[in-house]
Amino acid sequence: MPQALVLNATYEPLGVVTDRRALLLVLNQRAITVEESDTVLHYAGGEVTLPNVIRLTKFVRIPYRHAVPLSRRAIFARDGGKCAYCSATATSIDHVIPRSRGGGHNWENVVSACHKCNHQKADRTLKEIGWRLRSLPREPVGAAWRILGTGRTDERWLTYLKPYGIEALGNAAATA
Ligand SMILES: [Zn+2]
Repeated sequence: MPQALVLNATYEPLGVVTDRRALLLVLNQRAITVEESDTVLHYAGGEVTLPNVIRLTKFVRIPYRHAVPLSRRAIFARDGGKCAYCSATATSIDHVIPRSRGGGHNWENVVSACHKCNHQKADRTLKEIGWRLRSLPREPVGAAWRILGTGRTDERWLTYLKPYGIEALGNAAATA
C-alpha cells in the first residue's frame, strides 16, 4: 500500500499513513497536500490525485520522545550512507571499538563503513591504527527518525527529513 508522509503544522515530520488515509485527512480539512503522488484515484464523479506528503492544519504536540531504535537503516541515514573513516560509499556497519575488545552495540559505537576500511581496521582500535572519525557518532533525536522504521520510504521525503539530521533514507542499506 503506497504511503504518505505526515508533517506537523511546523513541517516537522511526524509519521507515515496510507495514501488513502492521507486523502481523508485532506478531505476533512485536517491536513493540506504539500506534494502529490503519481496515483490518481477515479470515482464516479471524477478523479483525485492521492497525496505523497501532507501537512496538518493544526499543530500536534508530541508528548514524549521515543528512543530511536538502532538499526542498519538508521545508522546509514545518520551517516549519510558514507564511510565514517574515508567518506566512500558505505556497505557495512563497523563497531568503532571492536566488540571483541569490549565495544558496545550502541549509537555511540556504531558507524557506517566501506568494505575496505572495515576489512583494514578489523579488530583494532582507532588509536592502534591512527585513524580518526569524520564526526563523533551520536544517538539521533526527534520524531522524524521513526519514519525510517516504517518500511519503504520515498526519496521525495528526504527534503522534509534533512533539517532533522537525516542525510539519507537508508533504502540502500535495507537492500544491501
Ligand atoms: Zn572507508
